[in-house]
Amino acid sequence: MAMTAEQKAGYKAPSQAESWVYFDGEYRQYKDVHLGLMTHALHYGTGCFEGIRAYWNENQQQLFCLLMESHFKRLKNSARIIKVDLPYTVDQMVEATLEIMRRNGYRQDVYIRPFAFKSSEEIGVRLHGLRDSFAIYTAPFGNYIDTDNGIRCMVSSWRRIDDNAAPARAKVTGIYINSALAKTEANENGFDEAIVLTQEGHVSEGSAENLFIVRDGVVITPPASDNILEGVTRNVISILAREDLGLTVVERSIDRSELYVTDELFLCGTGAQVSPVIEVDRRQVGDGKPGPITTQLQKLYFDIVKGRVEERLGWLHPVY
Ligand code: PMP
Repeated sequence: MAMTAEQKAGYKAPSQAESWVYFDGEYRQYKDVHLGLMTHALHYGTGCFEGIRAYWNENQQQLFCLLMESHFKRLKNSARIIKVDLPYTVDQMVEATLEIMRRNGYRQDVYIRPFAFKSSEEIGVRLHGLRDSFAIYTAPFGNYIDTDNGIRCMVSSWRRIDDNAAPARAKVTGIYINSALAKTEANENGFDEAIVLTQEGHVSEGSAENLFIVRDGVVITPPASDNILEGVTRNVISILAREDLGLTVVERSIDRSELYVTDELFLCGTGAQVSPVIEVDRRQVGDGKPGPITTQLQKLYFDIVKGRVEERLGWLHPVY
């Protein structure tokens, strides 16, 4: 659906209230969806969600949604783990997202938030015998953390949730208290971001990002079994490091003190994109500037998400 000249000339983002959302099989406006105070997921964290980005390309007058299939597949896995009934195929969720994006007529970068949750209004901690709902809303969105200058991190005193306590590979709302505690501790101590360790003391990830180090030209990231969220961006970065830069990518546990001696370090995620880390626990990483491999991966990533790399257009869904 090409944008009309009228739409191009007079662009104004819809207000959040007026924006179109998808809720339990219907297209509605944000202001017309109301959830009760007793909503189960609000009290017990019994929901799962995704965060997807869409990038506006001004030259092509096109909006590209990034890796929607991977996100909706992970959502289906999260829902399965926490017994939320999600009766939509990946294709149906992709279609619903494209429909609300078109209706909202965005011409800027956007964040897309699908959310599957226990919507019964009743008291009682459990997963079974409750009503489930599914929603998608969207909102204009810029940078989540700095990507240009490099950020300063601390190793959190909070440990990453263990898979046997709450499922680390599921993107579950309740688990985000773990991320929020770590993030606020870091920010209140003057750092940009937190790095969290597993119960055993291995590096797991950032508060809402996966982590990579580069040592002697080898790209290293913690394995799924170190309680990470299995990140969509992490997967893409591994592919780009291997296929485009011809580097070796290794998944293995990383020790805390390796963070102090690594040549390069970066965090990645849908929100964070590719964010170089230049300091950990008041120790400079490498020469204190974003590293060369990090910078190459970041450039590639931004070119791809903006629809500038022909061979990777398959990772994008154009909205118009
Ligand atoms: N870990 C956590 C805890 C996250 O919240 C995120 C963001 N979804 C990530 C890692 C990165 O995942 P992705 O690349 O799929 O956004």
